[in-house]
Amino acid sequence: MAASINGVGGVGFGGLTCSTKTPLPSSRSSSFRVQMSVPVEDKKRNYTLQKSQEAFNAALNLMPGGVNSPVRAFKSVGGQPIFMDSVKGSHMWDIDGNEYIDYVGSWGPAIIGHADDEVLEALAETMKKGTSFGSPCLLESVLAEMVISAVPSIEMVRFVNSGTEACMSVLRLARTFTGREKIIKFEGCYHGHADPFLVKAGSGVATLGLPDSPGVPKATTSGTLTAPYNDIAAVENLFNSNEGEIAAIILEPAVGNSGFITPKPDFLEAIRRLTKENGAFLIFDEVMTGFRLSYGGAQEYFGITPDLTTLGKVIGGGLPVGAYGGRREIMEMVAPAGPMYQAGTLSGNPLAMTAGIQTLKRLKAPGTYEYLDRITRELVQGILNAGKKTGHAICGGHIRGMFGFFFTEGPVHNFDDAKKSDAAKFVRFYQGMLREGVYFAPSQFEAGFTSLAHSPEDIQKTVAAAENVLSKI
Ligand code: PMP
Repeated sequence: MAASINGVGGVGFGGLTCSTKTPLPSSRSSSFRVQMSVPVEDKKRNYTLQKSQEAFNAALNLMPGGVNSPVRAFKSVGGQPIFMDSVKGSHMWDIDGNEYIDYVGSWGPAIIGHADDEVLEALAETMKKGTSFGSPCLLESVLAEMVISAVPSIEMVRFVNSGTEACMSVLRLARTFTGREKIIKFEGCYHGHADPFLVKAGSGVATLGLPDSPGVPKATTSGTLTAPYNDIAAVENLFNSNEGEIAAIILEPAVGNSGFITPKPDFLEAIRRLTKENGAFLIFDEVMTGFRLSYGGAQEYFGITPDLTTLGKVIGGGLPVGAYGGRREIMEMVAPAGPMYQAGTLSGNPLAMTAGIQTLKRLKAPGTYEYLDRITRELVQGILNAGKKTGHAICGGHIRGMFGFFFTEGPVHNFDDAKKSDAAKFVRFYQGMLREGVYFAPSQFEAGFTSLAHSPEDIQKTVAAAENVLSKI
């Protein structure tokens, strides 16, 4: 039995009860019982979020902001976050029993659909052998081989546990190899929460209006130079005024963290040329785009090969995995082959490797990216048409299974353009869509994701719901 959190702060799981240090402030006290699961109604008649609200009020006293990652807190769309109970395919069910068509996909990993049967079966098989070995295992080599044969720039790979780790490690590697310290990043691109990247970052940093975070020492960001996305002249200027000092340019080859923004036709090519001319590395942060824009990622899709690449999300199939990789001569700088230190207790975890392997196997089948492209085009076109029909300024786009739209005429080529989107309208749209059973990312500055499990009916329902909501807001 779970103990209740009712002002005395008892938390219990399966008979284990511990007390929290401080009593709950009375404004937050609740009769909600913190427990592993709550009874969920099978069939809901009315849309209510009562249990989610109670769970969130209790969570507020346990975790900062009630969440373990800021964007989940719904700060920019009002209301309170929704506590999910289960996921399957393209759908999610919350603890109040509401069902949603999901376009967040766990923020990217769920590209073949949530809780895929084959992934679950493979995980169950691996689990029989254990959950963590802390020594090399065959599964690491299997996934490494799959990644190397898929991603053009990767000859050797190192697995880590998150996209943040992948980006902070690849930065250390670029600095090690070039012997230079400065980097160029783009405004509104997010590369995880390591100190040097928390400068003009997108995603939750943008959503919360915190372009720079307190606690980041000036010294760690003094080498971070920024330019507007899609602005080649700005990059040229930075190279000219920092000659021989720039180790690398890091960028999202298609942006997902300022909303969805595509590179202009010649942008990536120019960046590739400039980095070569200046002896700097080009790093594609493909944590979002890897195995999503195509099996070989954005670099295969756009035909531009960077020196180094970071991956995450999809390659873990819903378990925590990140990776960085590149040419052999560069990767052999990483310990223990070389001097650059980087390590991880759970890196290459057998369960995480298993989920990644099964996910990539499915993605490799013929027709998968064509399917993602078709349904995502229908979705985005449907929403844009509905917006125009109902008199809203709206623009948007997609590549394969990644998409976004803004409430502005557009075009949106960078973060400043994205910020012109009507934020108040997005909130009304967002809340309306939730009530219609459609779950988009709770921020204007996040891309959306489709999966192989999204059916044409899901798309039709979503477009019909969008038309209904857009006609009322
Ligand atoms: N890079 C990009 C492009 C991302 O989108 C993200 C996460 N959204 C990260 C890095 C950080 O990944 P993680 O949240 O796994 O640390």
